[in-house]
Amino acid sequence: MATVRSATERRELLKEVYEEARNCVRCQLHQTRTTVVFGAGNADADLMFVGEAPGANEDRMGLPFVGQAGKLLDKLLGEIGMERKDVFICNTLKCRPPDNRDPHPREIESCQDYLRRQVDLIEPVVICTLGNFATKLLRGDPTGISRLHGREEVHVIGTRAVRLYPLYHPAAALYTPSTLETLRADFGRIPELLAVGPPEQPVGAEPLPAVPDEADLVPEGAPAGPEPPADDQQAEQLGLF
Ligand code: URA
Repeated sequence: MATVRSATERRELLKEVYEEARNCVRCQLHQTRTTVVFGAGNADADLMFVGEAPGANEDRMGLPFVGQAGKLLDKLLGEIGMERKDVFICNTLKCRPPDNRDPHPREIESCQDYLRRQVDLIEPVVICTLGNFATKLLRGDPTGISRLHGREEVHVIGTRAVRLYPLYHPAAALYTPSTLETLRADFGRIPELLAVGPPEQPVGAEPLPAVPDEADLVPEGAPAGPEPPADDQQAEQLGLF
């Protein structure tokens, strides 16, 4: 029978994944980042957003979507009666690409395991991918966002079946009124998707191990990261509700 984990257990396991991510040296971005932006919000949310990568503000603060695109995201959430504490927000990449360049395929490849474990532990019903990078990664297909936005599909991500709902990236809507109207209309359907509830889960799928074998992940001789913070500080730093 499939393992059932309580919300508390899943939240604790998510903190372990964060602990691992904050010392990550899997790709070159660890050399230029200030902070690993793991993601923030409700660790038991039905609704998850996946953006592209942290920008300068996010890199400095350690939290996702804190700049102009984040303000728009908050506004659109407000319009459907939700706030950040109701959702979990993260990115395809957990570290900022220098000069906000596009993520490189090898960086996406190195980082995707964190996102899969986040999905596995949060158990969202709906995942909104924001823009091309998250959409292509989670659909496993190169079709672009302009063809896919606003159309939900059931996808298995890691071991979880979710309702994947691609949306334009809020940054793309900041200066283009027609994109903003499309994004707002697509956002308006989120409550009905949530109301449908979770799709049928794959039979016999077991949750991913929250903490994989260290030997598989940390290159030999990699520098140790700073000491992890005390546990109560940790959830706060992570913006975890
Ligand atoms: N854009 C993103 O994709 N993610 C952020 O966290 C901020 C801006």
